[in-house]
Amino acid sequence: MLIVQKFGGTSVGDLERIQNVANRVSATKKDGNDVVVVVSAMSGETNKLVGYAQHFSKNPAQAEMDMLLSAGERVTASLLSIALQEMGHEATAMTGRKAGIVTDKHHTKARIEEINPQAMHEALGGGKIVVVAGFQGVNENGDVTTLGRGGSDLSAVAIAGALKADLCEIYTDVSGIFTTDPRIEPKAKKLDKISYEEMLELASLGAKVLQNRSVEMAKKLNVNLVTRTSFSDEEGTLITKEENIMEAPLVSGIALDRNQARISLMGVKDRPGIASDFFNRLADEEVNVDMIIQNKSHDDTTNIDFTVPVGDLQDAKKIVDSFVQDGEIKADSYNEDICKVSVVGVGMRSHTGVAAKAFSIMADNNININMIATSEIKISMVIDEKYAELAVRSLHDAYELDK
Ligand code: ASP
Ligand code: MG
Repeated sequence: MLIVQKFGGTSVGDLERIQNVANRVSATKKDGNDVVVVVSAMSGETNKLVGYAQHFSKNPAQAEMDMLLSAGERVTASLLSIALQEMGHEATAMTGRKAGIVTDKHHTKARIEEINPQAMHEALGGGKIVVVAGFQGVNENGDVTTLGRGGSDLSAVAIAGALKADLCEIYTDVSGIFTTDPRIEPKAKKLDKISYEEMLELASLGAKVLQNRSVEMAKKLNVNLVTRTSFSDEEGTLITKEENIMEAPLVSGIALDRNQARISLMGVKDRPGIASDFFNRLADEEVNVDMIIQNKSHDDTTNIDFTVPVGDLQDAKKIVDSFVQDGEIKADSYNEDICKVSVVGVGMRSHTGVAAKAFSIMADNNININMIATSEIKISMVIDEKYAELAVRSLHDAYELDK
């Protein structure tokens, strides 16, 4: 098999851990596999480099930041390659450029445009273990670019796609994807398998084990992803195509997003184009709107409620204020003490009653539902923040996710 193994910052956090990674890579190679390793910087290293730059400037040039930050991953890639060579393996460390990762020009959050894998193919063909510095590429001018924080996951998935690897293993300090946050529900179970679609819903809802862009890319390139821990031999969670999951459970997980705020607009002028004007302004300011509800009121105005991440609230308020000043909106109010609980599962596609059950559970626990949104594989409910844990545990129980 051809396996891509990606090790995150904590997995390469010190020299002893880099040696442990070398041992694992060595064992994978000795099992008869071809191995490409992608590494992050040692944990804390990227932040340290950011701090160095800030010592000299509040607003350093982004091209310089990319040169600087890409160094962290080069350190771990070279050290790991040296450790592997010392163990008797043929290994070679590569920068993003050498690995053929070509990006657009967008410094500090570049998108991968193509991968030219000749150098990796040649090294693998010669029996070598390839160790690639994650998080970085090169643009058409030859400048170093980076892929955005947490971007080494993306490097690994893109490389696995380009090499048509059989498997892309992402090693972190958690052992896989759980049915819900084990800190809230200790009975949460690790999932053996989950579909790309479900993973994307769970990730965007707060289960941040994998960078979202990397799951999207895995789906697009059909890469079988496994997340697992580098601190034991415990099997992880396979993230794959829905067809590869034989008996999909009705519900795979319960996600919680505490980071939402609700904005209520009263007396919104009821004219064609008002929603378009308002939400386009929010989009221009990159405010991330999630749920939207509109009700007609008695006069010829309407009420609109919507949610945004807490971090976007100030930007949203400014836009609301300007609509209030223009007389398009009569009144507004804000609530940060809410959260969003979501039930996620591809099994919902072919079963009815999943939503009704979620609503009954809320009713049984006397939890008022403020907003509801559904998709083919997800039911989301906005509720008061103080009920967050009760809601998660009750839903987890009701769908028997601990079984
Ligand atoms: N070292 C980079 C960061 O901290 C990339 C990564 O770890 O994936 O964001
Ligand atoms: Mg990371």
